[in-house]
Amino acid sequence: MTQRSVPMLDLATEFNLFADEVRSVVNTVLESQQFINGPAIAALEKQLADRTGARDAIAVNSGTDALLVALMALDLKPGDEVIVPAFTFFATAGAVWRLGGKPVFVDIDEKTFNIDPAAVESAITERTRAIMPVHLYGQCADMDAIQAIAARRNIAVIEDAAQAINATYNGRQACTMGALACMSFYPTKNLGGFGEGGMVFANDERLGTLVRQLRHHGESERYIHERVGGNFRLDTMKAAILLVKLHYLDEFTRRRQAIAARYDELLGRSIVSTPQVVEGCGHVYHQYTIQTERRDDLRAFLQSQGVSSAVYYPVPLHLQPCFAPLGYRRGDLPVSERVCGRVLSLPCHPMLEDDDIEYVASCVLAFGESAPAPAGAASVARQTM
Ligand SMILES: *Cc1c(COP(=O)(O)O)cnc(C)c1O
Repeated sequence: MTQRSVPMLDLATEFNLFADEVRSVVNTVLESQQFINGPAIAALEKQLADRTGARDAIAVNSGTDALLVALMALDLKPGDEVIVPAFTFFATAGAVWRLGGKPVFVDIDEKTFNIDPAAVESAITERTRAIMPVHLYGQCADMDAIQAIAARRNIAVIEDAAQAINATYNGRQACTMGALACMSFYPTKNLGGFGEGGMVFANDERLGTLVRQLRHHGESERYIHERVGGNFRLDTMKAAILLVKLHYLDEFTRRRQAIAARYDELLGRSIVSTPQVVEGCGHVYHQYTIQTERRDDLRAFLQSQGVSSAVYYPVPLHLQPCFAPLGYRRGDLPVSERVCGRVLSLPCHPMLEDDDIEYVASCVLAFGESAPAPAGAASVARQTM
């Protein structure tokens, strides 16, 4: 096949699909001069609550702050423990730490990359306040098992659904299962905004009210502050743009799923393991992530063929320098540590063409047929990336 250039994302091409609509809603906001709490905020909250079936949706300024404000609503106290997977984006654990809480890292299931319920069960102590499963890469964690563990002990579940808008689990939507759930509209997410943005979903009325108050400095009525919150508000302009992009979400989700199905077919018998979908789960493929022992060599080879790829994530959270005070050692969470060296995400965005998919897969297959690269080849190739 002739060489092609296949990027991980193509937001510029995507923008062409709705550029006019975006310009028009931006103009409307400009003319209204209502940059804070304009009508687009309530409209976005309502549409996302309606389409997921969550009880309430509260727009905030990032996925990270969605996690932070959700934990603030639980009234997390210093020393309180929150169980999180060791294999996720940093923000999941960072939010716990910022409130003085103690992230308790547990291992994942190698097949799904999601938190292992048995590991959750053994990590529970008297100080456990919450469990934060992450729906990694767009597939829901094993929520039935996790919720059963939490319900027996009155522990809150907060879904980190930043990568999982539209994902389903046994007929339920992501964001409807935990007491609270957090979404990110970071530009590269499946519903990516134009700048930072996030949403807290509340399935508990009291917690939803608290999140609303905390978003605006803990104000319960005008200038009365029941508790200390922050300024966690989303801008009207960003909400208006997200409402435009929301029209494309279902179509884009189906396209990601079709791309993944085609990769599955093409790579099914190759040297890499393809993602596994659990029965009853609707995966939305925020990432299409394969595993191979020869990850770094494969990545360098793909780059040499014009194919971008990415490693989410190269270092498990329990081994991050900032969490050294927690005393974790290499070997403590072996599955998370192993997959950090094996995962590779391939381009899987809605603008990918069929020929791109074939080309990417043909490069992976060609790599598999080549002899293992001599030691040092990958590092040489990497310098040219
Ligand atoms: C992106 C992401 C976040 C943080 O969202 P931001 O909007 O970037 O702050 C949190 N958790 C996970 C799993 C994410 O992928």
